[in-house]
Amino acid sequence: MLKDIFRKKRKYATLGSLPSKNPLEGERTYLAEPLIEHESPRKELPDGLWVKCPKCGEVLFNKDLVENQRVCTSCGYHFRIPARERLEHLVDPGTFEEWDKELHTTNPLEFPDYQDKLEEAYKKSDVSESVLTGQASIEGIPVVLAFNEGNFMMGSMGSVTGEKIARAVERAIELRCPVVIFSTSGGARMQEGILSLYQMAKTSAALGRLAEERLLYISVLTDPTFGGVTASYASLGDIHIAEPGALIGFTGPRVIKQTMRKELPEGAQTAEFNQMHGQIDCVVKREEMRKVLGRLLRYHQEGAV
Ligand SMILES: [Zn+2]
Repeated sequence: MLKDIFRKKRKYATLGSLPSKNPLEGERTYLAEPLIEHESPRKELPDGLWVKCPKCGEVLFNKDLVENQRVCTSCGYHFRIPARERLEHLVDPGTFEEWDKELHTTNPLEFPDYQDKLEEAYKKSDVSESVLTGQASIEGIPVVLAFNEGNFMMGSMGSVTGEKIARAVERAIELRCPVVIFSTSGGARMQEGILSLYQMAKTSAALGRLAEERLLYISVLTDPTFGGVTASYASLGDIHIAEPGALIGFTGPRVIKQTMRKELPEGAQTAEFNQMHGQIDCVVKREEMRKVLGRLLRYHQEGAV
């Protein structure tokens, strides 16, 4: 038909967002916002239904990816995962009790646009701050948990983040429970200036008291863990676990390069590199995390021989 010749046909369809290479380059979303365009010779793909693996290039069905704990079914690449989703895969069903949900950040320094950014973060995530805390059991063992939420201002540490972690650790002491913290963070929150840096001391002091009480603390570092979080609670574990390929460091590679005028070694700041150099005890796949944590918690239970 003649009219078919003139019919406009879209050549491209949108796919889910690809992660930025630099973990400190602003906020990153979880497959929700289509950012890249991909050629599709056959038909248009609905937004957010498919996502391309940044490691192997495989186009994955988003629903399958979520069911597979957001791990690429083709190459095992670990996509970032929201805190509540991680929680569901980790703890015994129905055992999680959330703490300090009502704590909300204010704008203590009246930093311009901070309030707008916070409101945007509330909408984007289903947590009230960049960390979710509470109590649950893993393979029947009671444990106090904290999970950073990357969708909330890149998991950055503000006053409420520090407060929630410190309170969770203090309650763990009262309950005589081990603590597991999953870190994902760009570091301290610049909108709260020095108040944010105080949280490094506060969380470290709380964990110091936990250690004095001889209670176990397992730190799990996930992609990315940087800045004031690496320099405080994420590095104070009795045991340090990381997810495969997670970027872990203090400063991003670009800043190091500018300061040192040197290229970083290949793969520097990955979980595997950190393990090789003694910073991380073991790299554990997401699908095995529950089993490994369960075993470690069992070994360290009070009264265990
Ligand atoms: Zn892949």
